[in-house]
Amino acid sequence: CGIIGCADTDDVLGMLVDGLSRLEYRGYDSAGVAVTNGSLAVEKREGDLSALEDALDGTGDELRGTVGIGHTRWSTHGPPTDVNAHPHTDEDGSVAVVHNGIIENYRPLRDELSGAGCRFVSETDTEVVPHLIERERAAGADRETAFRRAIDRLEGSYAIAAVFAGCETIYAARHESPLVLGVGEGANYLASDVPAFVPYTDRVIYLDDGEFASVSPESVTVADVEGTPLDKPIETIEWDP
Ligand code: GLU
Repeated sequence: CGIIGCADTDDVLGMLVDGLSRLEYRGYDSAGVAVTNGSLAVEKREGDLSALEDALDGTGDELRGTVGIGHTRWSTHGPPTDVNAHPHTDEDGSVAVVHNGIIENYRPLRDELSGAGCRFVSETDTEVVPHLIERERAAGADRETAFRRAIDRLEGSYAIAAVFAGCETIYAARHESPLVLGVGEGANYLASDVPAFVPYTDRVIYLDDGEFASVSPESVTVADVEGTPLDKPIETIEWDP
């Protein structure tokens, strides 16, 4: 029930776990992170954040990287298990996706994708998203276009963030589920709620329904479904930590 993302020039894993702990108040049954550092590394666990942290303690350098996303899940489709926890990936692990909300048309999408040869490993509605993105990529779309086209096929409520292997940009979108961007110095953020990144920046952009964001260490941009840039105000929030 919470999303965090960070594009930094430094290792990002500590910030992601810290951000997830600041979203714990929203409730959750599993948690996970994905970090890109050339390839894509994912770690996720059923249970509370300490279960994820224990799993992370056992990992080596593969989760070192400067761009990543994290998730706390409140299960709606499929029980709380390690496999159903987010992030979800495509088959060859080139894109990782976190999602809050419900994809109402996941059943026909899943049937279509299975018919086209995609192999599903989880019971979630979310897993259609990395497969949709991967198929757009295979058809020749660049990452941003593939992400927008995949999201455009979804019905329901969602805040979604995706990272690609070897890419410094996090792509995000929302419809009827909150998502806010944090504009920092040499690092930029996204989250379902401001407390997740408030120790790092007080400058925010609220994403509206139907908008798409690209978050890299240097910049934060917002566009519509066609990719046309939108001029969004940066607000400075007052927050008593
Ligand atoms: N519907 C998704 C799932 O069951 C996301 C749930 C959430 O908002 O955390 O995995």
